[in-house]
Parts: sequence; structure tokens; C-alpha cells
Amino acid sequence: SLRAGIVGLPNVGKSTLFNAVVENGKAQAANFPFCTIEPNVGIVAVPDPRLHVLSGLSKSQKAVPASVEFVDIAGLVKGASQGEGLGNKFLSHIREVDSILQVVRCFEDNDIVHVNGKVDPKSDVDVINLELVFSDLDQIEKRMEKLKKGKAKDSQSKLKHSLFKEDAEKAALEKIQQALMDGKPARSVTLNDFERDSIKHLCLLTMKPIIYVANVAESDLADPGSNPHVNEVINLASDLQSGIVTISAQVEAELTELPSEERVEYLASLGVSESGLGNLIRSTYSLLGLRTYFTSGEKETKAWTIRAGMTAPQAAGVIHSDFEKGFIRAETVAYDDFVAAGSLAAAREKGLLRSEGKDYIVQEGDVMLFRFNV
Ligand code: GDP
Repeated sequence: SLRAGIVGLPNVGKSTLFNAVVENGKAQAANFPFCTIEPNVGIVAVPDPRLHVLSGLSKSQKAVPASVEFVDIAGLVKGASQGEGLGNKFLSHIREVDSILQVVRCFEDNDIVHVNGKVDPKSDVDVINLELVFSDLDQIEKRMEKLKKGKAKDSQSKLKHSLFKEDAEKAALEKIQQALMDGKPARSVTLNDFERDSIKHLCLLTMKPIIYVANVAESDLADPGSNPHVNEVINLASDLQSGIVTISAQVEAELTELPSEERVEYLASLGVSESGLGNLIRSTYSLLGLRTYFTSGEKETKAWTIRAGMTAPQAAGVIHSDFEKGFIRAETVAYDDFVAAGSLAAAREKGLLRSEGKDYIVQEGDVMLFRFNV
């Protein structure tokens, strides 16, 4: 599944948030086949009410949601790109995730030391961005060096095709290097498709989407905008083309310890109607440009994760590579049409079930039945 890495300076609430995410996931484990796989990795279901509606209509034996994997990446301090703290080990963990959640401390608490002496979201965000920028710059310089040498050595024997690829990569590297030197992330650089593909293998850290998680005191939950630190994070996120979610890690941790009937009451006493975790998980999912389609039958109803723009055979390939190879067509009905008709059979009778071919771009919420050769 998709991986989101939780990062942030020490004492901002990362572990508190991670543990709440995992405990919450465990509480749902009776219904969902998920668990903690490593001490710092937890898998959680993406909440989706449509799943249960479909599963009810199809009288499915079980409902299987899409999932996101959260990784607690501790150890980022100023100087990490120069090898301070866990340094490069930390950065290599970030290289493996699809998106970054940076917890930013917005709560005041004199008992909990802030590494810089005071709560200062702008400085926290700058420190981490700078480490990521330094690490990418370093990698780009190494790669440019390598390309220079490689080309000098055997450019004659190279195919036209690979020379073209190399030119695309060089162009991309130069553009990104310039942006990084201006302190801007690689994701802010405009690249064409060839350039974008050519640098994928580098897994640049500043290419990954970031969500800023403003960690607020419980008293701020009802009206986060009244906390000036939160407004600062909102402005930073918009400057950096990133997402933002407000959460109280402490409240989320406390919620996991309450029986479910008391949770609603506790949340109401804080002036909110739902836990922030659902919002965090959904934001992570949508920031990655992900879409959901469903398969639904008596055995199970299942949510599948695809990237926006995937064709029907590619979407089938998410289930099994044989489905993609042997793809013939996909019987498809939009979620709303399925619900209005009440079943796949009824949707077929009403002519709402379409037969889609290999060029069909799967839409959010499609319910699909694949026909394929084996
Ligand atoms: P990490 O170093 O970023 O993983 O931070 P921790 O999750 O270990 O939290 C550091 C300290 O801050 C712990 O004592 C937490 O209980 C506390 N803490 C975390 N979130 C909040 C919060 O929202 N409000 C308050 N007052 N304390 C918090």
C-alpha cells in the first residue's frame, strides 16, 4: 500500500500521533485485516462510507477498505543532511515514502521543551525543508558528475534513444538544481513528461508531496484559526503548494483509550464532531492524486487504489497482473447509479451498466467487473 512518512523536529508530537493512528487502526482490526507490521510502521484503513453502502447492497460477506501505511521517521534534527543525529539513515527512510507528513508544533506547554526554545512554526518548517533541499542538491550534483563522465566515455556506442533520455535528465537536473539553490522544492519545477520520468529513479525528497500537520492544544480544536501559529502554518503551506491538517495529537491519543460510546461525548465537550484522524488519512490519500474504484459481489466488496488517469486494464492490473494482460472489457457502473439501481443486475436491466474497453479512463467511484482471458 501507499506509504506516508511522519517527520518533524523532536518534541512536536510525532510519536503521540503515530501511536494514536496505530491504536485506532488496531481498534478497527476486528473488521479489517490490518495490523502493525513493524514498530514504526502501521497500516490503517481509508475511511469510506461508500464501501459499506455497496457491501450492504451486494450482501457481501466482507468489506475491504483501501489502506495507507504510516511510518514514524524519528531523528530529524538540524544538520541531518551533513550527518548529524541519525542523519543519512533518516533521510534514506524518507526516500522510501510516497508522501511526507510534517508535524508542526502549534501547542504551548512550558513543561515540554522546544528544541529552539519557543514555538515557531516558520522556523520548524524552514529547518526541515533546508535539510531536504541540501540532501537533494547533494544527490543532483553526484548524478550530474556521473552523467558527465559516462557520456565522455561511451557516447559513440549509445543509442539515439538513450541519448535523448540522457538529455531530458540533464535538462531536468539543471532546472531542479536552480530551484533548490533558490530554496524551492523540486516539486515546484515545471517539467515535461520525459524530464519527469528521467529523474524518477533519484527519488528526490523535495519532489514528494507534503502535508503540514498543525498539532494544536485541545482548547484550540473548536476554533483553530484563533491560534496565530496555525495561521502561520496555513500561509506556509499555501506558499509551498502543500496541504494542511489541524489535529490535536494528544486528543487523538486520549480518544483511543476511551470506549467508543464515550468518544462522541468527549469530542462534543471540545466542540468538535469527529476525530481528526479520518481527515488526516483522507487528505493523505487525495494529496497523492489517488482514486478509488470498487469491486462488489457476494464474497466481498473491496476498494482499490489507483492513480488518477489510469485506464481500465491498468486498474485491473492492481488486482492481478493477469487481469491486465488478459483484459477484454470492464463492465462498469458509476457508484451513484449502482446505489440508485440497488444491484448490479438491476443496473444492467436499466442500461446503466456500460461495457468499457481498454482505453477507458477509470473514474472515481466506478464499480467494475473485469472480463479477461487467462
Ligand atoms: P516527538 O518527539 O515529536 O515524537 O514528540 P512526542 O510525541 O514524544 O511528544 C513530546 C511531548 O509532547 C510528550 O510529552 C507529549 O505528551 C506531548 N504532546 C504531544 N502532543 C501534545 C499536545 O497536543 N498538547 C500537549 N500539551 N502536549 C503534547
